[in-house]
Amino acid sequence: MALGTWNAWSYIHFGRYAIIARMRKRTKIVATLGPSTDDPETLRAMMDAGLNLARLNFSHGDQAQQRKRLTLLREVAKENGRIIGVIGDLQGPKIRVRRFENSSVKLRIGDSFFIDSSLGEREGNESGVGVAYENLHKDVKAGDVLLLNDGQMTLKVDRVEGTRIHTTVVVGGILSDHKGINREGGGLSAPALTDKDRSDIKFAAEMGMDYIAVSFVRSADDINEARRLLKAAGGTGLIIAKIERTEALACIDSIIDATDAIMVARGDLGVEMGYAELTGMQKSIIRRTRHKTKVVITATQMMESMINSPIPTRAEVSDVANAVMDGSDAVMLSAETAVGNYPVEVVAAMSNVCVGAEKHSLTIGRTTHRLDDKFEKVDEAIAMAVMYTANHLKVKAIIALTESGSTTLWMSRIRSDIPIYAFTPHEETSRRVTLYRGVYPVLFRPGHSEIRELYRDIFATLLSKNIVDEGDLVIFTKGDLSGVSGSTNSMQIVEVSSSV
Ligand code: PGA
Ligand code: MN
Repeated sequence: MALGTWNAWSYIHFGRYAIIARMRKRTKIVATLGPSTDDPETLRAMMDAGLNLARLNFSHGDQAQQRKRLTLLREVAKENGRIIGVIGDLQGPKIRVRRFENSSVKLRIGDSFFIDSSLGEREGNESGVGVAYENLHKDVKAGDVLLLNDGQMTLKVDRVEGTRIHTTVVVGGILSDHKGINREGGGLSAPALTDKDRSDIKFAAEMGMDYIAVSFVRSADDINEARRLLKAAGGTGLIIAKIERTEALACIDSIIDATDAIMVARGDLGVEMGYAELTGMQKSIIRRTRHKTKVVITATQMMESMINSPIPTRAEVSDVANAVMDGSDAVMLSAETAVGNYPVEVVAAMSNVCVGAEKHSLTIGRTTHRLDDKFEKVDEAIAMAVMYTANHLKVKAIIALTESGSTTLWMSRIRSDIPIYAFTPHEETSRRVTLYRGVYPVLFRPGHSEIRELYRDIFATLLSKNIVDEGDLVIFTKGDLSGVSGSTNSMQIVEVSSSV
């Protein structure tokens, strides 16, 4: 596998602890798994190239197939000592046309074409096609514009008769089986969680997935419902709200409050709101999400041309770089890895762009993050104090001993070029923090309750891996880690020494 001169990683092997941490790239990469990634060699190379989280897309394949993919991913991660987070992405109420007699039809400008939920599968033809959403005729009216296949074709609604929506083709093309329909401006009333989603939530809980992405979220209620279902199924994953409907934009703040993470899902969002204002919206969503101490992923068509090409276009390079400079925690690959021809090269290219963009995205000493807000918890106050100190003092690394990872989440909201190592005894936490920008998981089971001995162990490892040198300053925090005495709710600035 051609990876060029990609060798920017440092690994930590932590003696008797099972440990990996990587330096350099702070922005995380999410890659969608699919037929192109279904072999161990490709997965291993993607991990070497900078993969942090894998997305299983429930829109494609059944649970048996997802189970197989996840099992393989976990095997490869384990064999290579990697910590990889897993996102289960619910299909949601994507409205799709039913199938055609001959799998597709050609729509020409000015043609009449109807959409009718009473038509069955394989009953579509040149005059019209079925649709899987039975209330579509109630949601649309004359004058509405319907967009097919992510906006590639456009229909104008002339009139609605019973279940039949009569339209005229405004932009033509080839319409094939099961292509998606959106209404310009949004407003279709399909509920966010379908029966299939409910079943997939149970499956995700059973498989111990780290994040569940909820598609076509309309409001905070959809997030609360997904969380309730996940908990009821015994799941401990966190929730990602995919922002891809215009309704979600109207109540974005309450959605951010309800969720753990946001995905700027530019594919469907760009169709519903139009692409012209999408970039501004992306920046605004990222800013608001970070401000509320939540995590944000920028997604879709980031390196689309690399489905068929081993190098990205300059425009794609710019897009990824801008998402990094906007403050995204993670950037995502969809078809590029799932069905593309260069799943490893695209991860490597994205990693390179992340590193390049990060050099230009610092505002050290000028952060005003939550400067005017009240902190909600003591741990948060400590995390903030750590970051202000680290950014104003010459500190080499931040070592956060953490149970849930929350301390490192707070820290990672502050822009910095100082690595934050999340030392945790919990595998679940180690996988969760793979999504946080600038946070590197270290699986660590404290063998000592004495803080001094703990430091000695940690220093020995950091020194042996050249992450720090003798005399460097590091900051320790024990935000919420139990079982270690002597530093509850504390921050300590310590000079590295092999003889503590
Ligand atoms: P999808 O979501 O890939 O599941 O459609 C992302 C998007 O719409 O951008
Ligand atoms: Mn989508």
